[in-house]
Amino acid sequence: MAHANDPGHPDSYYLATAKGLEDRPTLKEELTADVCVIGAGFTGLSAALNLAELGMSVVVLEAERVGYGASGRNGGLVGSGQRQDVLEAEEQFDVARSRQLWNFAELAKQEIKNRVEKHNIPCDLQKGQLVGVHKKSYLGWAQQLADALTERYDYPFCRALNAQETYEYVATSDFIEGLYDTEALNLHPLNYTLGLARAASDAGVRIFENSRVTSYTKTDPAVVTTATGSVKASFIVLACNGYLGNLEPRSAGKIMPINNFMIATEPLGEDRAREVINGRFGVHDTRFVVNYFRLSDDHRLLFGGGENYRPGFPKDIAKFVRPYMLNLFPQLKDAGVDYAWGGTLSVTVNRLPHLGRLEPNVFFGQGYSGHGIITANFAGKVIAEAIAGVAGRFDVFAKLPMHTFPGGTLLRYPGMVLGMLYYTLRDRI
Ligand SMILES: Cc1cc2nc3c(=O)[nH]c(=O)nc-3n(C[C@H](O)[C@H](O)[C@H](O)COP(=O)(O)OP(=O)(O)OC[C@H]3O[C@@H](n4cnc5c(N)ncnc54)[C@H](O)[C@@H]3O)c2cc1C
Repeated sequence: MAHANDPGHPDSYYLATAKGLEDRPTLKEELTADVCVIGAGFTGLSAALNLAELGMSVVVLEAERVGYGASGRNGGLVGSGQRQDVLEAEEQFDVARSRQLWNFAELAKQEIKNRVEKHNIPCDLQKGQLVGVHKKSYLGWAQQLADALTERYDYPFCRALNAQETYEYVATSDFIEGLYDTEALNLHPLNYTLGLARAASDAGVRIFENSRVTSYTKTDPAVVTTATGSVKASFIVLACNGYLGNLEPRSAGKIMPINNFMIATEPLGEDRAREVINGRFGVHDTRFVVNYFRLSDDHRLLFGGGENYRPGFPKDIAKFVRPYMLNLFPQLKDAGVDYAWGGTLSVTVNRLPHLGRLEPNVFFGQGYSGHGIITANFAGKVIAEAIAGVAGRFDVFAKLPMHTFPGGTLLRYPGMVLGMLYYTLRDRI
């Protein structure tokens, strides 16, 4: 069923090409379940599906529509590894811990491939990712990372590219080196999310839309309340990420919601599209405020660039994002923009994912810092494992160092804006 003017989803390229949109009921009763999951994005749906496969009864409550949040709006780049690359992780931890986190990300990548295959999810899964190096002080990083991955991570799939080789992949003079990863992935994120929801429903999960959770009790079992119903559950999974709002101040102070924006050009035609990006791989650059892009299957450029740090999006998102695209691709100055949209993600102070347990029966996963396709999907899986009593992998994440944003829940924004301005300036030096 098409939802051209679906008020629950932004009017994005993804909505226009969505497969498997379904209307799901609003919660209007008092239910009982083993687990109540709050939020129907990657984290919540992955947790729900894995829990159902472990034999538990699960209810998912989504404030808007399935995939309404970042999971249905993002760039679709499924990068290998964690948000921190292994060189950074080796500095912060040691090789053994860095390797463990890398291995988890590889398992997560495999899990996404398995899900697509097992549930026949039509999400246009493609292989390959290029990282474009944009400034001189980063020269040599690509070779160093490719060597580290080959030597210490059994991952010989990344190759460093010089400027000319990089240009043959992506026609921008902005990139002075590149790193090409043949095994990274990209996908249509809304269709992947809708596919996960369908798989979860098929496994017995009851999913409710337009069912915003207003509160829950700190009791065992807990009672989760919406405006028109409630769920009594032995466990709760908080999977609201950048859309958490005031529901849970205890975890809100560890994340900063950030708005990020995307456009889809008009179809460029196969030849012109290939002149810009020579394949269906994903691309991002090394900027702190990252540019990321790829081609769609109908030969549009899907381009993400620019962010803001306050509640609310720019009035004209296309006008806001287009200069970022033209900075890299001046040859597209005559290309029309058919869709423009934004979404909210959340970052942590150190860019490591934040998983934890607020009460013996309340779990959460958040703060994937722009690398959520791999991490959020895996977070859902390890939260499900922990609820089922096998907490080994969950504990690795839950023990990662985590800091509170200066100013906590209320005063995060001013400090964040200053910090972000500093890093944005560093992009240009
Ligand atoms: C524009 C953009 C581009 C991005 N690009 C990439 C990329 O290329 N690669 C990558 O790896 N990551 C990317 N990300 C990040 C990635 O999309 C997120 O990390 C990931 O989707 C988080 O999934 P989630 O399920 O935790 O949260 P979300 O998908 O945001 O889902 C949270 C859900 O919780 C619901 N909710 C909130 N409060 C309540 C409540 N009280 N009751 C019920 N439901 C509630 C919301 O409505 C929402 O549907 C991008 C993000 C954005 C915004």
